[in-house]
Amino acid sequence: MNVYHFKNFEMLDPEAGELNGGHELVVEGDIIREVSARPIKLEKADVIDCDGRTLMPGLIDSHVHVVLSDVVIRNMESVPLTLMTARAADLMRKMLDRGFTSVRDTGGADWGLKEAVDKWLLPGPRLFIAGRAIGPTGGHSDSRRRTDFGIRCQCCNALTFSMGVADGISEVRRAVREEMRQGCDQVKIMMSGGVASPYDPLDSLQFSMDEVAAAVEEAHAFGRYVCAHAYTPQAITRAATAGVRTIEHGNLIDDASAKLMAEKGMFLVANLVTYFEMKKHAAEYGMSSDMLAKNDLVIEGALKSLEICKRHGIPVAYGTDLLGQLQVAQSEEFILRAQVLSPAEIIRSATTIGAQIVRMEGKIGCLKPGAFADLLVVDGNPLKDLTLFQGQGQRLSVIMKGGRFHKNRLH
Ligand code: ZN
Ligand code: ZN
Repeated sequence: MNVYHFKNFEMLDPEAGELNGGHELVVEGDIIREVSARPIKLEKADVIDCDGRTLMPGLIDSHVHVVLSDVVIRNMESVPLTLMTARAADLMRKMLDRGFTSVRDTGGADWGLKEAVDKWLLPGPRLFIAGRAIGPTGGHSDSRRRTDFGIRCQCCNALTFSMGVADGISEVRRAVREEMRQGCDQVKIMMSGGVASPYDPLDSLQFSMDEVAAAVEEAHAFGRYVCAHAYTPQAITRAATAGVRTIEHGNLIDDASAKLMAEKGMFLVANLVTYFEMKKHAAEYGMSSDMLAKNDLVIEGALKSLEICKRHGIPVAYGTDLLGQLQVAQSEEFILRAQVLSPAEIIRSATTIGAQIVRMEGKIGCLKPGAFADLLVVDGNPLKDLTLFQGQGQRLSVIMKGGRFHKNRLH
């Protein structure tokens, strides 16, 4: 079994929010075996001298789509599953390059990809998957054109592979059970309109309360939880009332819906960067003016939503939701949030809170004995300088996932 002995680093424990010198850390196999403020004596180990750099847990992005490799989701219609997988492999490797050792996929990634990453057939972050994102007919996950009638085959292209449609309590139960049968970690449902779907108004309310309650009941019965795509206070309130655990996006949240979320112990997974990147680049990739108009609506609420959640004590996770070509901006979210939050708070959103969301506290997002050895060695102090995460990982000297080096410049 591999044993690595990390020495001579400043330790960044996200909960402490400050650097601590003088520690040593031992990785054995895929876990952190020991963290000590005193020198550790080992018979046999590979020593990694960090030369005063910062050692911290790997980052967690709580809202990604590794298979949605095109800004214009509609284009995924002509992507076969082989090409979808090849592109996902490329996108996942680049996420790991940027220091994201875990990502929560909120629609698209399946157990096959998860298994491929677990077995290192494809280098990539740990995947927490939803399988298909489920919505009602005509909602955010209904990928059909207006000229399409009936239900499409769900397995022939990357678009139908990622999105599911269900109507009525029994169909919702069946769809949710099906995703759980396929090994999903969380059940993703659509409860309001979306930016990247052409026909549904942003403030549309998707699924009836009975349908949402059915999804929640089934998910809980199987030991899973429901995450809901929702922008408006009405959609957030409905989700909270029905027992949804995490709100995805939530840009237009207000005080009343935030108060309810806090009472219910819910999480927000915000993702600001995608709206700013869409605004910057979407025209060149062919997004429609309808989509861009919806984008303008949510961009306004983006930073405000973080302030509202802070005021109400709602934990906010780091999410990006960047599609395809825009994923290079994954680490820009740090910079955007810095307008209203401290670096320590933002780093916690991408470690501690991310771990809570996927129910892996103590296993990821921390430097504790028994946790997976998902580690970064950073060339500087991110608590002072979040730009260290920029540049596609060039300021990361070490990226280790599960005790295995993805990158090691400290030879
Ligand atoms: Zn969404
Ligand atoms: Zn999304």
